[in-house]
Amino acid sequence: MSEPVQKNNTESLGATTLYNEHQEWATNLGDKTIHAKRMPGFFRTVKYFTESLWLLFFVGAYLRWDGKQALMLDVSHRQFRFFNLTILPQDIWMVSLLLLILAMTLFAVTSVASRVFCGYFCFQTAWVDLFTWIEGKIEGNPSQRHKLDAAPWNADKIIKKVAKHLIWLLIAILTGISATIWFEDAYQYWHDLTHFNLSLLETVTLVTFTLGTYGLAGFMREQVCLWLCPYARIQAVMADSQTILPAYDVKRGEPRGKIRRGVAVDSNTQGDCIDCFQCVQVCPTGVDIREGQQLGCITCGLCLDACDSIMDKIGRPRGLIRYASLDELDGKPVKKLYQHPRTWLYVAILLAALGGVIYGLTHLGALKLRVDPERQPLFVRMSDGSIQDKYTFKVLNKTDKDLRVNVSAEGGVKGQTLRCDCELPKLVAHGKSTTFTMFVRVDDKNVLKDVTKLQFRVENTEDPTMFAEYNSVFNAPKR
Ligand code: SF4
Ligand code: SF4
Repeated sequence: MSEPVQKNNTESLGATTLYNEHQEWATNLGDKTIHAKRMPGFFRTVKYFTESLWLLFFVGAYLRWDGKQALMLDVSHRQFRFFNLTILPQDIWMVSLLLLILAMTLFAVTSVASRVFCGYFCFQTAWVDLFTWIEGKIEGNPSQRHKLDAAPWNADKIIKKVAKHLIWLLIAILTGISATIWFEDAYQYWHDLTHFNLSLLETVTLVTFTLGTYGLAGFMREQVCLWLCPYARIQAVMADSQTILPAYDVKRGEPRGKIRRGVAVDSNTQGDCIDCFQCVQVCPTGVDIREGQQLGCITCGLCLDACDSIMDKIGRPRGLIRYASLDELDGKPVKKLYQHPRTWLYVAILLAALGGVIYGLTHLGALKLRVDPERQPLFVRMSDGSIQDKYTFKVLNKTDKDLRVNVSAEGGVKGQTLRCDCELPKLVAHGKSTTFTMFVRVDDKNVLKDVTKLQFRVENTEDPTMFAEYNSVFNAPKR
């Protein structure tokens, strides 16, 4: 990976407005603010669309289901509410599979299309895009923004800067609130917030998210992608020479050179790149893609839009910068998508994990039962000659209300009777495991084997479809 470099250009191109700000364009080390130009185009439209999916982050927590928040990571009660499902720590394996799905999706997409996630979906990219859009609305185009930054402080500069930072702060606060309400009841949170009644933890969380958003999106911007993001570092191992990514067609573009209105270009001595710097000026990370693949490229495709519009204007074919694999640009054979074994491996793992989550969700009963037979002694012979086994029942109630359950057993020994050390039906508290002891007693003459299979069942008294079963055994003396 080469470092971003500075290029100079003082020419202007016919009707195309060119800024000369690249003359002051610093290497992308964070010492100067990048004010990227916005140009319309296909990838810019796609980017607006994908980034707008983040609106769900702001509104999703207000969704109600059955009178409660539909989606909530309820940390204080150690449960995740997903519509009418409550996922408790016992089902945390599903969350692990969910994370595996997200990771494999990211790996598969990266192996096919490089850092496309960064360019179109990443929250840092999306928030920076929003913040710089606001900056552009208040301070003007990139050239005007550079001039304003360099200008001495006066009333106009103060008004513009204060307005921008106030709006940034407002968005940062809204982001902080929106992040917090996924962890507790959204409406209760707003009530506490407006009555200045937030707890210390809530206040710290809000302040942390607010300052984090304000600092990362407003000030650090592309520097986060360059120096802080771990994904930028590891994505290189997932991509190969078949991975498609924004690439400059060197054979077609070089030797680059300026053109002037009315002056014919000798295509034998000059390539298609007219060195207009539009691709650099639209780049949100300050990359000059013509210098090859770089760590700073977030694969957003905005330089493709810029270059295509230039090609249209000078009557050359589009695609001087295009999504292409390095093999394609080198003239090597290009493999089809299904010929990438690594991608298939990612997809296979993803599908296996997805199957696990679907299985878990469809088998996620409201009750969960575990039965531990007494080991020492395995059985007790009673004074009347009957045999009695003792079992410890653990009933996990995953619903959000207390339930009463009855206990029964299938199989086992003929004529067996069940007795509880408690009152039946047993009350099982919501969101936790309730433990009690059951005894199974049989007449010795009915016992045919020393180990007999039986199945216990606990069932909600009000809703028999809500039940849980557990396979166990009845132990008796050797026959
Ligand atoms: S080089 Fe092109 S694709 Fe890469 S970040 Fe810059 S504008 Fe986006
Ligand atoms: S690659 Fe395209 S946009 Fe970039 S300088 Fe050359 S002609 Fe201009």
